[in-house]
Amino acid sequence: MSPTTAFGTFFLPGPTEVREEIMTAMLQPMIPHRGPEFERLFERLQQGLRPIFKTERPVYISSSSGTGMMEAAIRCAPSGRILCLVNGAFSERFAHIASMCGRDVDRYEVAWGQVHAIPQLDERLSMRKYTAITVVHSETSTGALNDVRAISDCAHRHSIACLIDSVSGLGGAELHFDEWKLDYVLTGSQKALALPPGLSFAAASASFIDRANGTHDRGVYFDLVELDAYARRNQTPSTPALTLFYALEAQAKSIAAEGLETRWARHKAMAVRTQEWITKISDETGKKLGNIAPLGSQSPTVSTIRLPSDTPAEAFTAAVAKHGIVVGAGYGKLKSSTFRIGHMGDHTMESLERCLAACSSVLRS
Ligand SMILES: *Cc1c(COP(=O)(O)O)cnc(C)c1O
Repeated sequence: MSPTTAFGTFFLPGPTEVREEIMTAMLQPMIPHRGPEFERLFERLQQGLRPIFKTERPVYISSSSGTGMMEAAIRCAPSGRILCLVNGAFSERFAHIASMCGRDVDRYEVAWGQVHAIPQLDERLSMRKYTAITVVHSETSTGALNDVRAISDCAHRHSIACLIDSVSGLGGAELHFDEWKLDYVLTGSQKALALPPGLSFAAASASFIDRANGTHDRGVYFDLVELDAYARRNQTPSTPALTLFYALEAQAKSIAAEGLETRWARHKAMAVRTQEWITKISDETGKKLGNIAPLGSQSPTVSTIRLPSDTPAEAFTAAVAKHGIVVGAGYGKLKSSTFRIGHMGDHTMESLERCLAACSSVLRS
């Protein structure tokens, strides 16, 4: 993959590298969004998106970043108290959104890098009455992967809706919306789907939408009931970011051609390779690097790697950038102590090797 930015090749955990073919797809002319041509485009996008979510439900396309569909989740969640599972910066954002939308919120926080265990969650859900929980699938600040299937099942045993942020998961980490009987899953364009930023996507179960109908103050822009009604007519409630829709159409074709299972496997292989590299470079240099997420709950799309205390992340990422490779500094309270490799989207083992070689050469010097 050749770099598409002046900065070098992006291994940021969003926005990630976007292939030239996808950039070129955005040069297509405007069409009216109330007309048959747009409806056909929307229908094609549905055919591309449904297999990515593994659902037969409509997939809502919002002209907003991922945060928009997080807010939609909260605005349309059944009224009542929400328990927010927090294990990093993005799951904390979900809790923040819930509070700022006026909801009663409890946080169930575990150490950053860790994931939520089912027995403890079960206990929390027995202690107080909740109508919904929020959870982040792949916590992009820590590289930890929550078992959203088990978490959703646990919530359902308590008759609680489970709102899942899979912004850096979907398209790279295994998820089956229908088979796992999920209520709501959202994602963004600029992470594992390797699109430019600006779109977010969500699927909701029929019963979630039915219940949302009875929820007051859903607002307008992020009203899932409205998005659902329009999606059925192959339309969007307001003017769509048409240019990005073209990019999505091109990328959905590539994802279908690769096959989603193959795509999941590619991401997993990149995460495993990164973990191997961490061990090897630590042994070689005597510097103690480490993935902050434990083995067994590491995200296939992003690795958050602790740096030795004499190597602040800002200096490290700047040195790596001189090799034409852009890795991310840490996020939130991990800003200086960790760096992040987004091995997601259209990256391959080959492009990852170049990234790891650049990181190695900085660590050796
Ligand atoms: C990037 C990200 C978001 C926020 O997405 P925006 O596109 O910046 O609004 C939310 N959750 C997770 C897990 C993310 O990685």
